[in-house]
Amino acid sequence: NQRDELYPWALEKYYTVSKKVLGTGSFAVVKLCTDKRTGNQYALKIINKKSIQGRETMLTTELNVLKKVDHPNVVALHDLFETKNAVYIITDLASGGELFTELLLQRSFTEKDAAHLIRQVLEGVAYLHDHEIVHRDLKPENLLFKDKGENPRLMITDFGLSKILRNHNDVLMTACGTPGYVAPEVLRQVGHGKPVDLWSVGVIMYTLLCGYAPFWGENQAALFEAIMLGKYEFEDEYWSNISELAKDLIRQLLTYSPENRITAHQALLHPWFKSAANVDLLHN
Ligand code: ADP
Ligand code: MG
Repeated sequence: NQRDELYPWALEKYYTVSKKVLGTGSFAVVKLCTDKRTGNQYALKIINKKSIQGRETMLTTELNVLKKVDHPNVVALHDLFETKNAVYIITDLASGGELFTELLLQRSFTEKDAAHLIRQVLEGVAYLHDHEIVHRDLKPENLLFKDKGENPRLMITDFGLSKILRNHNDVLMTACGTPGYVAPEVLRQVGHGKPVDLWSVGVIMYTLLCGYAPFWGENQAALFEAIMLGKYEFEDEYWSNISELAKDLIRQLLTYSPENRITAHQALLHPWFKSAANVDLLHN
């Protein structure tokens, strides 16, 4: 019957799906659900197969690999269902909202807070890269807080899916926000791997510290030109109070050539993380 088409029998047997929408992305709607067996709450991501036509098998194969991924800074995959029309992905619930929202609220972060956040992103990225998973779409919208409160845990979401869900054109045409986090080699279509994620971390770190993005343009074409030139500045007005160590790590992350760009494991050893934990300079 109609209902079976929309919600697979097994999903409804084991989970109660709430009407509450946690968020929407470019390919999915995310709802709150409860495991009937344990009472635990999870996020249910529903991807309409029409939006990924021809790539469904790739998606489910990739998701089965991702079932094995287990790291505190990566949203874990718990369960997976598939029907004729949709793929249902059940993951850890991150009820603290997006880093994007927090950034809009706070405008910028202290070095101490930014270091706490960036370290967690890098821990997650290092883990994914160790497992040969490249995220490709790291940005504050895809970084979610586990819960609300002091020193919340930050978790990467949407990992591994980007390879399947997004091709070059999708990135170019993305409707939600600016694609300002994308690495130059992605735009230049010269092949890209793990280093693209480190570039994005560089853009995120820059943005967290000063409250604006390193690359910008009046329109998307101008933005892409700016990224492809790879030139950015630490404007005195916003950056004079920010440590040289922070700028050094950003320079290593926003290194134009992917071969020379710092890796996640190398970045985690950068002295900024030690020094920023001990100072709490307020800026802006
Ligand atoms: P898309 O791949 O379409 O971009 P996302 O996985 O990014 O979809 O999810 C879209 C939005 O739904 C996120 O930006 C977030 O606000 C919300 N969301 C996603 N996963 C979770 C989760 N595990 N817990 C809570 N909210 C989530
Ligand atoms: Mg997303």
